[in-house]
Amino acid sequence: MERELQAARNRVGGEWVDPSRDGQSVENPATAEAIGRVGFSDEADVDDAVTAAVEAFESWRETPVEDRVQPLFRLKSLLEDEQDELAELLVREHGKTLAEARGEIRRGIENVEVACGVPTTMQAGHLANAAPGIDETAVREPLGVFAAVTPFNFPAMIPLWFLPYAVATGNAFVLKPSERDPYTPTRIVELAAEAGFPDGVVNLVHGDATAVDALCEHPDVEGVSFVGSTPVAKHVYETAAANGKRVQAQGGAKNHVVVSATADLETAVEGTLGSAFANSGQRCLANPVAVVVDSVYDEFAARLADRARSMVVGDGLDEATEMGPLTTAAHRDRVADYVETGVEDGAELLVDGREAETPATGHYLGPTVFGDVPTDSALVGEEIFGPILALVRVPDFETAIATVNESRYGNAASLFTTSGAEAKRFRHEADPGNLGVNVGTAAPMAFFHFGGAKESFFGDLHAQGDDAIRFYTDETVYIERWPDR
Ligand code: NAD
Repeated sequence: MERELQAARNRVGGEWVDPSRDGQSVENPATAEAIGRVGFSDEADVDDAVTAAVEAFESWRETPVEDRVQPLFRLKSLLEDEQDELAELLVREHGKTLAEARGEIRRGIENVEVACGVPTTMQAGHLANAAPGIDETAVREPLGVFAAVTPFNFPAMIPLWFLPYAVATGNAFVLKPSERDPYTPTRIVELAAEAGFPDGVVNLVHGDATAVDALCEHPDVEGVSFVGSTPVAKHVYETAAANGKRVQAQGGAKNHVVVSATADLETAVEGTLGSAFANSGQRCLANPVAVVVDSVYDEFAARLADRARSMVVGDGLDEATEMGPLTTAAHRDRVADYVETGVEDGAELLVDGREAETPATGHYLGPTVFGDVPTDSALVGEEIFGPILALVRVPDFETAIATVNESRYGNAASLFTTSGAEAKRFRHEADPGNLGVNVGTAAPMAFFHFGGAKESFFGDLHAQGDDAIRFYTDETVYIERWPDR
């Protein structure tokens, strides 16, 4: 039996409080055992958090920026000091491997580091003599209360795509993390409190759609950052915008790797394998479709299938594990149903993850590879969010790019090539917002914005980088003339 954690609580204006509604149990996907519980917030709970944030904003916005970033420097140290314990907690409630959890926490800390640069990055511009006798100055100012709604697949990193930038720029913040793995974000908010943010600057509400809708409709919320599936991203985008808020909503994905005739196959196989099966395929930047040019297809498929068959599937806490379980039993079954779909669509089942060696309990499905998948198969068009890789055979590079661009999603794509000319064409012609060349997973560092296009992103300003600063601030322009009498 696993040790059960105390139920996850809301953080409202410096107090820990229980959400009003009954919620759900939190499970370890590797063992299918309950490890804790999370209650769900109602509209009044959300209102309490927003009200606390509004109150805190009044003095926080007046706090000098140099003082506002000091708690972020401390948060970075606290997260670094605690990364092993945090990684273990994350694995227990999410299922990914320890190495993946540590990597995720590192990517989250990177955002804290970038936000520490806000005294510089928040500066806008000044021009003397912009017109006769006139100086003009643009000033970026915080707006008030921002909310972020985040998904289950990166419970440490994704809240940190938003929290550091929102508060460093002088706003107050309310986080609504996924109800499936609430403990990691709760611990991060606890560390933020320890780092010294004044009460009410960082708030936390647990819950489901009720809490999300309450945030999107609350008159005192200025803007909403969202990450999750496309239907919910669209819903949040429309609801928050209809209520007068700025919104950045990152949705689902179905990404491609292109393997060209000139590719270094060893690099391509390793890059594709890591991208398709890391986090058990539960990544918005995973590349679950490999579009392979005919002349190298057979060799690529054979090598990839061999590597996929050899992957060790198990509990993420075991250091030998290369791939963990899926998040819930229902999700595992939904993903496994796609194996039948692939067979019905006439694809060749090269590696059947249902036959992989796995622990007896837990929501496991091994790496699955289909070859010669028709492009109208659901394996190519739909987001499965699990360890199923579809190989598509194409006659040439042009057809490969066209196949990438047929997708309704546009989160990411990667090309494996040794040709500069192909890389240049790919950069110019492929639609997705994050493009990798000889990189399996095109994940931008925190000082670049996180791209996303088509049905993978709704809004204008993305997460991370300069976009984050602009999303969380409004620019006022001062036009001044001082006649010399
Ligand atoms: P999800 O859409 O089910 O949930 C995301 C958040 O929305 C959660 O906090 C959840 O409580 C809330 N929510 C769920 N249903 C809602 C509803 N009807 N109304 C209002 N709020 C609701 O997503 P998930 O399963 O947690 O995460 C996986 C999805 O997230 C995948 O589609 C994945 O591609 C996507 N994702 C995208 C990115 C990106 O950068 N584009 C990054 C990570 C994950």
